[in-house]
Amino acid sequence: GSTVGIIGGGQLGRMSAMAAAKLGYRVHILNPAPTSPAIEVSASATAGSYDDPAALEEFASRCDVITFEFENISAAGLSLLAKHRPVRPAGEILRVSQDRILEKTCLAEAGIALAPWKAVSGPQDLKSLEELGFPLILKTTRFGYDGKGQFRVESAEALSALTDLPYPLVAEKMIDFQRELSVMVVRGIDGTVRCFDTVENRHRDGILDVTLAPARIMPDVAEEAQAIAMKIAMELDLVGIMGVELFHGADGQLLVNEIAPRPHNSGHWTMDACLIDQFEMHIRAVTGLPLPPARRHSDAVMHNLVGPEDMARVAGILATDGASLHLYGKREARPGRKMGHVNTIFPRGALPGELALEGLLPPRG
Ligand code: ATP
Ligand code: MG
Ligand code: MG
Repeated sequence: GSTVGIIGGGQLGRMSAMAAAKLGYRVHILNPAPTSPAIEVSASATAGSYDDPAALEEFASRCDVITFEFENISAAGLSLLAKHRPVRPAGEILRVSQDRILEKTCLAEAGIALAPWKAVSGPQDLKSLEELGFPLILKTTRFGYDGKGQFRVESAEALSALTDLPYPLVAEKMIDFQRELSVMVVRGIDGTVRCFDTVENRHRDGILDVTLAPARIMPDVAEEAQAIAMKIAMELDLVGIMGVELFHGADGQLLVNEIAPRPHNSGHWTMDACLIDQFEMHIRAVTGLPLPPARRHSDAVMHNLVGPEDMARVAGILATDGASLHLYGKREARPGRKMGHVNTIFPRGALPGELALEGLLPPRG
């Protein structure tokens, strides 16, 4: 049998490992700590830093193919891994997605529409941001997730009052959007490209809260979002799955927010609404197995379970008809920490209306 190596031990690694096991693979994890959500469901693990050459070499020697749930491996680490085993997706894609400026530069070169943006290398660049208009948003270029490292700026006065910012930053015009959308696209070694249906995402305190599958938009908009995602996958020569986040502007335009070349939280609905979910598609892609169409047999609403407040709802969720619960096995429910998610499934075309959405799960504790 073959061993799939997964870099990163969090919930995305856990669900990828479970999908790999379903296909008969053995899974080996690289994670800094000796226990983690992914390690608990895998055959073995290397406990070591992502940037320790000895740990990376030990890890690589135990795998037949290497993939990721964690994107922030150094360029040196990525090229070391590639010397030993096939790395899918290729390290170059991770290098791009790790850095918002590089990511936006690559997407813009590929002709992908983005929110107007500017690189901000230091305080001397702040003045020129007035061209973007207000409100605008400043984001750290690396390591940001769940809206961390972001600063909203309402006016020129507020901008000139800012001090001690963590440069380098990227500035973006705040987009007046009707909806946030995302698409999971997967590409195989042979170039086969598949797309899951376009979905709609809502955030709470900067963290994904709810995904509606399918998005409640006109079919031409849903298809355009998929076409954009497929174009990015081909331009980057992706092998594996990738999440593409988009804004559907008040003016109807689709703008890409960011990409994530790995399984993505906004794809968790596929676990209960598709025969082959995002994790299995990813494992199939990186191991060279066939990729059948990404078909959705049901409509779905995915709710994230975040922190102790949502863990208090678990007993009620377990007793809820139509709710499929997924927990990540994290010991401590710190505030803001993703603990699990729930998929509520409906026949195709029967996604509930706005008011009924509120009552799907027991209220927050
Ligand atoms: P993730 O956890 O998805 O990786 P992140 O920390 O990388 O998040 P972004 O996705 O860039 O952050 O931004 C988080 C959220 O902030 C977006 O989903 C959106 O709701 C809002 N946001 C970010 N940029 C803009 C923008 N230019 N215009 C309007 N809203 C924005
Ligand atoms: Mg992000
Ligand atoms: Mg995002």
